[in-house]
Amino acid sequence: MEPYTPATRRVLVAKPRGYCAGVDRAVEAVEKALDQYGAPIYVRKQIVHNTHVVRTLEARGAIFVDETEEVPEGAIVVFSAHGVAPSVHDEAAERRLRTIDATCPLVTKVHNEAKRFAAKDYDILLIGHEGHEEVEGTAGEAPEHIQLVDGLDGVGGVAVRDPDRVVWLSQTTLSVDETNETVARLRERFPNLIDPPSDDICYATSNRQTAVKQIAAESQLVIVVGSTNSSNSKRLVEVAKDYGAAASYLVDDASFIQDEWLDGVTTVGVTSGASVPEELVDGVLRRLAEHGFTDVEEVESVKESMRFALPHELRRDLRASS
Ligand code: SF4
Repeated sequence: MEPYTPATRRVLVAKPRGYCAGVDRAVEAVEKALDQYGAPIYVRKQIVHNTHVVRTLEARGAIFVDETEEVPEGAIVVFSAHGVAPSVHDEAAERRLRTIDATCPLVTKVHNEAKRFAAKDYDILLIGHEGHEEVEGTAGEAPEHIQLVDGLDGVGGVAVRDPDRVVWLSQTTLSVDETNETVARLRERFPNLIDPPSDDICYATSNRQTAVKQIAAESQLVIVVGSTNSSNSKRLVEVAKDYGAAASYLVDDASFIQDEWLDGVTTVGVTSGASVPEELVDGVLRRLAEHGFTDVEEVESVKESMRFALPHELRRDLRASS
């Protein structure tokens, strides 16, 4: 490799990156709810897994709670993009809460698949990360039919009633490559394993992984902007390393970048998870520019145009007051 000089330092910025349609919709739902009904608006769990987004909404009057029982009776509560189990809707109804369901439509699609296969009495193998809110919500649709498979290590422990009536579904934010490996291993055990009717890993997750693969091979370091509880952001770090980056780090914002990461580096890749506002990427680019990384190139691998309408409860009220 040629010795670097500040003049040769460059940044490859992956595209698509950042906000997906589901996150955009969920954040806008809380903002519009604050405008429409006034503060406070309660939000169950983090609306999306990003610390900065949560803090910004808190400053506007959103109150984040872990469970619906923390919401005063009769108040308005928004359910996060990750979705909730039916039992959470029941609890909210018991407490006479006014709910706005910001579950991403692509998560709802997986819930509907789970309900359909459960109604046909299939065993459902849900590939996902134990404890993740999305997995808890999906599993809650049919707990007696669903068992969690947490990656390759989870395959050995799977037990089914009838190996010819087994389907796999997945969390929307997994590594595409790792999930394919897990499914292949499950299929060795259950050759008649049924695939989901359409991909459960969502377009945004898979597009961001495709985009980071494009820049990883040419980057000695890939910086992924995202919070540590963001599944899709963490996957981007793993994919970057698997596809050629010598190092990759997850940072909440530019202040997390350590100068020594940049020692001897001529090309830095930058991307961001699906819950990350673009201003945080801009901050990282400014920080890199201070270190001589001024040659910035955006590398686009896929065009995205997906948009989702706001939750219907909110649209109804916005229409009525306009
Ligand atoms: Fe929806 Fe995918 Fe975004 Fe999750 S990452 S909110 S499933 S579009």
